[in-house]
Amino acid sequence: MPHIPAVLDDHLASLDLSWKGYRERGSFDDFVEFALAINSVAEHLATLKLPGLLRQCQGLESTAISLFGHRDSHPVEDTQRRALERQIDTLVRSIDLARPPAAHGKSRRSAPIGAAAGEWIKPHSAWMVCDSGLPWAGGLREQLEFFGFQMTRFGWRDAAPAQDSPLAILCMPGPGGYGPTHLDTIRCLREAHPASQIFCLAAEQTLATLVDLLRVGADVTIEGDAQTASVIERMLDLLQARDRAPYRVLVVEDSATAAAMVRRALTRQDIDSDAIDDPRGLLEAVARYQPDLVLMDMYMPHCTGVEATRVLRQVAAYQSLPVVYLSSEQDVAMQIEALRLGGDQFLTKPFNPVLLAAVVKNKIERFREMQRSSRHDSLTGLFNHSAIKSLLKQMLLAGSAEAPQLCVAMIDIDHFKAVNDTYGHPVGDQVIRSLAWLLKGRLRTSDLIGRYGGEEFMVVLPGVAPEQARVVLERIREDFATLPHAHAEGALFTTFSAGLACCAAADASAELVTRCADDALLEAKRLGRNRIETGVF
Ligand code: GH3
Ligand code: MG
Ligand code: MG
Ligand code: MG
Repeated sequence: MPHIPAVLDDHLASLDLSWKGYRERGSFDDFVEFALAINSVAEHLATLKLPGLLRQCQGLESTAISLFGHRDSHPVEDTQRRALERQIDTLVRSIDLARPPAAHGKSRRSAPIGAAAGEWIKPHSAWMVCDSGLPWAGGLREQLEFFGFQMTRFGWRDAAPAQDSPLAILCMPGPGGYGPTHLDTIRCLREAHPASQIFCLAAEQTLATLVDLLRVGADVTIEGDAQTASVIERMLDLLQARDRAPYRVLVVEDSATAAAMVRRALTRQDIDSDAIDDPRGLLEAVARYQPDLVLMDMYMPHCTGVEATRVLRQVAAYQSLPVVYLSSEQDVAMQIEALRLGGDQFLTKPFNPVLLAAVVKNKIERFREMQRSSRHDSLTGLFNHSAIKSLLKQMLLAGSAEAPQLCVAMIDIDHFKAVNDTYGHPVGDQVIRSLAWLLKGRLRTSDLIGRYGGEEFMVVLPGVAPEQARVVLERIREDFATLPHAHAEGALFTTFSAGLACCAAADASAELVTRCADDALLEAKRLGRNRIETGVF
């Protein structure tokens, strides 16, 4: 059973408090506080990867938003108030049910302090719900085990295992597709394991089927046959720690009161912010603070928000930085002109804090997703050449304290040209992806994995001694050699060579370690391939 981290309890406590405030006073401002409190609980459930509980909380949030109205519509009617109260109770009860047995019945505050998000689930375990004899289930299971997952299978009519929640639950119906029994089982699994990702495989791509599956709590639906590759890929993605550094917003606003209000609304959503009151300092502030988004006032001394945004767009690095105008400007023609000249959205003052937070988060998510695609390789999803190089550099600069030493490995597939020449480029591509998957599945989330070149990978293992690194990589090397890669006439096998370099983080440069690993790789090739050599640093 997952642990409820203390931060979530704090957010639940302020939800409770703000609701009491609204019940007592019934003012619009109290309702805004309440809506913001729901939103921060939802945000935390999303961060903790608890899709089941998140969905309930979003239900509560949409009820609240539908009652938002304006100043005169509060307090809301008694029936609406009672309906909200019921939804809050249900949510709190569901969260309590998800607590570990020892915490049941105790006060909310007794949850273990500092429990990390990772403790909610068993990171490498997955369940398969399918009846025995399903032809492709065995193959998928074998492959997932190969890539490092501990698999447990049970039938649609069996009881679920009494174990910790798994990372993922793979649902596989028989030839008849998903029927009422399947849907019931999925609903029960959803309730019992709010932290797990539920994958529904072989889902017929019709609106009716997909709506049914999403309603009972599926997170991902994957269609038809030939889906082994996409299942493995998505499962491995779950293992990758998403870089969730706090969102950063720069507020450009000449009125101190307005800036304070905006920043307060952002803080409530755990969004970091900084503010400048003079647009002339914009370029300097953006360079220093590196925001994910700029909230721009329209009318300020010296220049308008639109002019400031046009200046920002002159700098190549800030061309896609989201800019949202916040202004009392009601003239639609003016608003359109402002958007045409480089802004991304227009919000009018007095602003609705829930809408503001939603717009800001949405824009930042997209911005970060776009940045992500410029740092990742499209074939494998690993870091690309320039990203892994700069991450290694950063890691060496940043951290001697927690990781006094660090190992770098350069890995290169042996005689890969022959694979391409004999079986064709697409088969070659799949071999590259399989090695990427193997590395993702076997290494820790704190390790960096990059595609350095065509069939060459760089792996950075922080805080690891050379002997340990060698053991881990040898194991991967041996297993890769036994991995069958399918082609038109059967399966082929291939190997890789690697060069390892280890250094004390404090006194090495990225260039030096990389060159040392590279030399060791050449030596491994020279000595006959399918081996790992350690460089002398
Ligand atoms: P060695 O054991 O010495 O590493 O021999 P090799 O054949 O692996 O090395 P070589 O550098 O001669 O060939 C690498 C080949 O990798 C050549 C290139 O066509 C192929 N390659 C590079 N990128 C890709 C890719 O994205 N997909 C595929 N299928 N092949 C690629
Ligand atoms: Mg102003
Ligand atoms: Mg090669
Ligand atoms: Mg090569």
